[in-house]
Amino acid sequence: MMRFGVSSLLFVAACHASGTSSTASAVPDAVCPVPEHPAAPSAALAIDPSSPATAGAFVLRDAVLVDGTGRAPLPDTDIFVQDGRIAGVGKDLEVPDGVTEVDARGYTVLPGFIDAHTHMVMDPPDSYAAGVERQVRETDADRALRGVRNARATLLAGFTTVRNVGGGMADRALRDAIDAGLVPGPRMLVANHSIGTTGGHCDDTNALRPEVFGEVPDFREGIGDGPDELRKAVRYQIKYGADVIKICATGGVLSQGDGVGAPQLTVEEMRVIVEEAVRAERKVAAHAHGNQGIKEAIAAGVHSIEHGSILDDEAIAAMKRRGVFLVPTTYVGRYVVERAEAGALSPDSARKAKEIAPKMQRSFRMAYEAGVPIALGSDAGVFPHGRNGKEFTTMVELGMKPMDAIVAGTSAAARLLGLSDVGRIVAGMRADLVLVKGDPLEDITVLERPEAVVKDGVFVVDRTGRLSPQGEATP
Ligand SMILES: [Zn+2]
Repeated sequence: MMRFGVSSLLFVAACHASGTSSTASAVPDAVCPVPEHPAAPSAALAIDPSSPATAGAFVLRDAVLVDGTGRAPLPDTDIFVQDGRIAGVGKDLEVPDGVTEVDARGYTVLPGFIDAHTHMVMDPPDSYAAGVERQVRETDADRALRGVRNARATLLAGFTTVRNVGGGMADRALRDAIDAGLVPGPRMLVANHSIGTTGGHCDDTNALRPEVFGEVPDFREGIGDGPDELRKAVRYQIKYGADVIKICATGGVLSQGDGVGAPQLTVEEMRVIVEEAVRAERKVAAHAHGNQGIKEAIAAGVHSIEHGSILDDEAIAAMKRRGVFLVPTTYVGRYVVERAEAGALSPDSARKAKEIAPKMQRSFRMAYEAGVPIALGSDAGVFPHGRNGKEFTTMVELGMKPMDAIVAGTSAAARLLGLSDVGRIVAGMRADLVLVKGDPLEDITVLERPEAVVKDGVFVVDRTGRLSPQGEATP
């Protein structure tokens, strides 16, 4: 039986992926130098499941299992992976001859993390002016290429599934490229363009003079006024591949000239959007900071409230009654305040960031204590991708129990996304796994530093054979 430590498996695997010959018993450093001209990330990151390192099947031995359901950790547990699926979980599992054995003592194994709120083709600009320049110059092609780097960073951070809530048609292209194995990244559910009102938070022209863009944005870019236009906007996004519909129920921090809490889409408009999405078997995620907009979005039937900054007892009761998820984006709330203090936001956005952050934290605590369903969502893209795991840490700092935070970023998020085969480590599920050193229930920040990531049964490593914990882009 071949038996490896986790780190040597990564080395062997990376060697194989970069084309250097290696055998399962090879000592890593001797045979697997860091290549001078590294292979393309896609070649180095994704290991062929038929490689000698994994041979299509492997078993992790003696790990601590945190299975994503909220159940207490199970020590000395084996996880058997075959053909991209979890084939067995238990103690002293018997596996067929030839299956690679990986010694996982000292590691905690969790389900691949799920982020219900990302913007994969966005990055934070250095300044407000730089952001405006990017808005004017960049095309979908630029954004898709930016997304390639971000997808890699997200995967290395342990996030094997994301719900990407608004960016444009580049999102759809990125999703499909990942699915086709052209570039490494998480499984993506995409919204294409977010849907909202003229001049609202989802209107990407963001109060720039109309001549700059040639024409006023319309249903193609998710913008409409009145039920008929918005119905068309939903149908258009779905026609071009949207898995989920994202709407802007209220103003936001980074949009110019709108009150952060001000309602935007009307209840009537949101009802039509939800009706149309549900007919097409899609869910609706509502960006909503202000109390009125939150309540109106819930009344219209949305499936999740994103940010949910100004909740009250009535809103919380309605969310519980209807099973509406809160996606609280707690880390980004802090991040934008730091950006405001560093002078990187417009004066309007800086003021709004400081106004909303403390309210967002208070609302998160209220919702958690009341038992509102919560799914982890980070808003990555507003901050650099790869730091998604900080959302676990921030939720815990704000009072969430570590196990509840883990559930929010695994099985609860899977439930919100409508995916029944991810988010738990149970036989039959997709083999999406994260290995961390130490105990996340003692120190939640270990989730920010995965030691190894497995997606669909395949070990993911960077080109040096070592996982880059922060998912920093290599130059
Ligand atoms: Zn967002």
